[in-house]
Amino acid sequence: MRAAVLYADFSPRPGYRLSDEEARTRKVREGNKVWKNPRLILEERPVPEPRGDEVLVRVKAVGICGSDVHFVETDEDGYIIYPGLTRFPVVIGHEFSGVVERVGPAVRNIKPGDMVTSEEMLWCGECDVCRMGYLNHCIRLNDPADMEYGELGFTHDGAMAEYVLVRERYLWRIDSLLDTYGSEEKAFEAGSLVEPTSVSYNAIFTRAGGFKPGAYVVVWGAGPIGLAAISLCKAAGAGMVIAFEISEPRIELARKVGADHVLNPLELRRKGVEPYEKVLEITGGEGADMHVEAAGAPAQTLPQIQRSLAVGGKVAWIGRAPSEVPIYLEVFQVRRAQLFGSQGHSGWGNFKNVIRLMAAGKVDMTKIITSRFRLEEVEKAFERAKQRIDGKIIIRP
Ligand SMILES: [Zn+2]
Ligand SMILES: [Zn+2]
Repeated sequence: MRAAVLYADFSPRPGYRLSDEEARTRKVREGNKVWKNPRLILEERPVPEPRGDEVLVRVKAVGICGSDVHFVETDEDGYIIYPGLTRFPVVIGHEFSGVVERVGPAVRNIKPGDMVTSEEMLWCGECDVCRMGYLNHCIRLNDPADMEYGELGFTHDGAMAEYVLVRERYLWRIDSLLDTYGSEEKAFEAGSLVEPTSVSYNAIFTRAGGFKPGAYVVVWGAGPIGLAAISLCKAAGAGMVIAFEISEPRIELARKVGADHVLNPLELRRKGVEPYEKVLEITGGEGADMHVEAAGAPAQTLPQIQRSLAVGGKVAWIGRAPSEVPIYLEVFQVRRAQLFGSQGHSGWGNFKNVIRLMAAGKVDMTKIITSRFRLEEVEKAFERAKQRIDGKIIIRP
C-alpha cells in the first residue's frame, strides 16, 4: 500500500533537556525542539495485518490538519514548527474515515464493511488519569517511555495511506451518515471531520459545560476548529454567534456554517474600533456568554475576551500557543467568569454526539471542504495547505 511517511532528523536543540526515555524511544514531548529537516515521502509499505483487538481500515477520506502542516514547516534553524508529542518516521494523518477491511480475533463490536472514524488520542484506559475519566490527559499516552500509547499520526502510524490499523476501542461507526449525505463519498468526507469537530465539542460542551439556548457566543479564529465551533453553537441554540477572522476565504466559510456576524479585526482597527467594542455594540453592551478561543493567539485575543465577557461568561480555550500572556483576574471576579482549558476530543460522548448531530443534518462540516487531492498528489496538497487559503483539504486514497 502507499503511505505518506514523515521523516525528520533526530537532532535535539542545544539546551534541550532530553530525557533518557526520549533518547531511547524517540517518542519526544516537544517535537519542535528535537526534529529537524522534515521530509514527507510517499512510499510503498506492506498492508498491516490486524492482531488482537486491532481493526484494519481502508481509508476513504483523510483531512490535512494544522498540526500536519506544522510537521513540514520549519523555523530558521530547520526545526519543525509542531511543538508537541511526536515520534518519526511516522505515517501522518489522523482526521479520517474509512471502511473496515479485516478485524483481529479479539474484536467484538466492529465487522468488515462497517463505516468508521477514529479518535486520535491513543489513551490507555488504565492509568489513574484515564480511570478518573480524563482520557485526553492519559499518563501513558504522554509518557516517552511508553511505546504502546500515543497519538495516531504523531507517534503511531496514521491514516494518510491506503490502510490504517486502529484498535477497536478508538473507533466509532458512522454508517448513520450515509442517509443524510446521500452518497458514500460525501458520508466519508463528513466522517473525516468528526475528529476536529469533536475537539470543539469537547471544549464548549464537555469542558466548559455549554450554554443556555439564546446565549451569545464569540468564536475567535475561523480555521476548521473555529468553523466547527460556529456550526455546533448554532445547532445548540445560540442566540447569536459572532466570529473573528482575518483570512478572507475563511470569513466566507464562517458565514457559510452559520455565523451571524463575521468580523475582520484588522479591518475594524483600521477604522479605530477594537474587536471587543464591536462585541459590546452587537450584544447591546452585555458581552458574550461564551467565548471560544480557536486562534491560538492569546496575546491578541485574551485582552479582547476580557473586555467583552458577559456576567457569568465562560471562555473555552482550544487554541495552542507556547507562550505566556498576562491575565486580568479582576475581570473574572467582577464578571463572575470562568476560563476552561481544553485539550483533545476523547471521552464523555463527544464523538457519539458529534456523529448524531451530523446524522441529523444539524451540523454539516462538509461545507468547509475547499480542496480535494488523491494520495499520489500529497505533495501538491501540502503545498496548497501551506498557503492557508482553504477551509479543509481532503485527501482520498
Ligand atoms: Zn488534528
Ligand atoms: Zn491512561
